[in-house]
Order: sequence, then C-alpha cells, then structure tokens
Amino acid sequence: MPTPSGAPPTSDSSLVGREHDFGFGLPPERVTSTVPSTMPELADLLHDAVPFALPLTRSFRGLQMREGLLIRGPSGWGEFAPFEDYTSQQAAPWLAAAAEAAFGTWPQPQRVEVPVNAIIPAVHADDAAAIARSAVLDHGCTTVKVKIAAPGERLADDEARVASVRDAIDVAMRGVGREGRGKIRLDANAGWTLDEAARALARLVAYDIDYVEQPCGELEDLQRLREQVEVRIAVDESVRIGGVAMGELESIADVVIVKVGPIGGVRAGLRLVQDWPGEVVVSGALDSAVGLAAGVTLATALPRAPGACGLGTGALLAEDVVSTPLVPVDGMLGVQRVSPDLDALMRARGRLDDDQARHWRERAVEVWHSGGAELVEQAIAGGV
Ligand SMILES: [Mg+2]
Repeated sequence: MPTPSGAPPTSDSSLVGREHDFGFGLPPERVTSTVPSTMPELADLLHDAVPFALPLTRSFRGLQMREGLLIRGPSGWGEFAPFEDYTSQQAAPWLAAAAEAAFGTWPQPQRVEVPVNAIIPAVHADDAAAIARSAVLDHGCTTVKVKIAAPGERLADDEARVASVRDAIDVAMRGVGREGRGKIRLDANAGWTLDEAARALARLVAYDIDYVEQPCGELEDLQRLREQVEVRIAVDESVRIGGVAMGELESIADVVIVKVGPIGGVRAGLRLVQDWPGEVVVSGALDSAVGLAAGVTLATALPRAPGACGLGTGALLAEDVVSTPLVPVDGMLGVQRVSPDLDALMRARGRLDDDQARHWRERAVEVWHSGGAELVEQAIAGGV
C-alpha cells in the first residue's frame, strides 16, 4: 500500500484567514512563484498517490461513498476523483488539476475567503428542510442549492423539496435575526426536456429562485427556455462535459459554473472565465478537503469577488481526509492548502480493498494515456 513519506501530513486549518501567508506551511513562493515546478512523469504522479473512499451522510448522485486518488508532490496534495461515468478523455482534466496542485503553482489569491452555498441532495422534503436549517444555523450559509429533476422523481417531489427548503431557510434566518430572504438555487443536472423544464420552472419560480443550473442538456433547449421562463439560467455540464466555447454561451446563460477538476486546474479555470461578462460561480464535485481547497483557491483568485460558491459539500461527508471536514464557518471558506491527516487518510485508504485501490491507480494510468499527459504539461507550464 502506498504511504505518504517525508514530513508528516498535517491539517493547516488553523491558518485559515491569515492574510499574506498563503503558503500555509510551505514557502510562499511554492504557491505563487512564477518559476514552474518540475514537470511530473506518470511515475511521479503515482509515487506517493493514495486511493481513498469517504462515506457520505446521504446518497448523492447515487453514491454512498466518494472515491478518488490523492496525489502528492513538492507543492502539496492534489485530488483526482472523476466520477465513474466519465470517460478517460473526460477525466483527463481532473488529472491535470491534481498535478497542478501537487507539482505546479497556484495563482495569487485576491481575497482570503469566499461565501459558499450549502447543497441539498434529492432527498425527501423533511430531510431537505433539516439540511437547510442546519446550513443556516450551523454553517451560517444563506444560499442553498437544491438538486431537482433526479432520475425517477416527479415534479411533485421537486416542488415539495423546494417549498420545504424555502420555508426552512426563511424561518431559520428569522430565528437568528438575519435580514432578508435566503437564496435558493436549483440544479437539474440536465435532467429535463425543454417541455419538462418549462412546466416545472413555471411552478418553481414561485419560491423565489436565484437561478436554475443546467435545466436541459442541449444548448438550443436552453436558449428557447430562456425566452419562456422568468429565471436566470446557469450552465455547468455544457462547460465541464460539453466543452462548449464560452462565447457561444453568452446568449444562453446568465451564470457560468466552473469547477477545478473538470476544467483542468485553478489556472485553467481562471483563463476560462476571464472574458465571461456574467456571474461566475466556482463549484466543487463532492470533493474531499484537498479538492475543496483547490476550488476555494480559484474562487479567491477571480478578479471580481464571486457570489456564494458551490463549495459547501464538506457537510455531506461523514468523514474526510482531514480530521475535521472543510465546512463553512459563518457561511465562508478561507483560502488554504490542505494536507491530509495521516490517521484520516489511512482510514480512507482502508475502506477500499486492493482491487478497488488498484482500479484508481489504473484509472490514472489510462487517463494519462488518453490526453492526460498533455493536459498535465499545460497545467504545470501554465504557472509560468
Ligand atoms: Mg451542476
């Protein structure tokens, strides 16, 4: 079993929010240097890599457990955790993002922390209300994203969930003396046809919706939907899977969701949105604390301060690779580099049998040979 070597891993959460010390235990030039780190070969990526599995508090995307591979290099730790339904080509940017974190440099943050939203999976309305209340009361979040249009669900299920969340966050916010209403965002994960989306949103807008994320998969459908409904439209899958050029999306979407893994790194994410005139929301992919730290880094490096980012998913992990999951405090997450805690990492490794662990190493090898090598090179060279 691969084990980390060298300096003992530590959690650097005590350093959250410390301005002008973004290295967090590493020399600052390792994070913000203009000198690129060494270009890793495949063997370098795998040398200290640790496959992991983290139990979820609730089923998410049909998963009970979040799996992936943590990669260690001279700059720190990176996360390679593409979902199983991603092809090797689609997973190639995830490897580049992990390599950038471990062997490359990250851009200079423009702010020390960012607001984040909580996330509510496609659960029963009562459970949704409980999560929404906890988001406000325990984590200080005033924006929540609700999953809708899940396979096998009806519009009545979605509406019950959204209604229950609206009531729960409004009551919770009043309870803690917060002004105004909480924001609700919807994420359909491209689960609707145009007609289904139009019918559903005609009802759901009554709950005061900030935006709906990827209601349909096809761009033409999004375009037509935008003319039919009074709600802002965000694109996620169109960018991270469809690879649609940003210029093409300007007439279709109000908000673009950018994720470090699927887009190939922090610097790739910054480049992607540099000319986007609308709102940018940095989101995650149910990452461990290591992956979330990369997302927070992108959000803190954006030229314009972002709205609430989709990085509140640490609350869905029953255990993380650090002793305390990276969850929002007062609705915010601070920029930091995260290193796993050895005990938590070994527990995460121990949840996989040897075949499952081998699968993750083999996946990285396949991905490297399916375009990953080129993207890794770009991600590391992008730090120049
Ligand atoms: Mg989404």
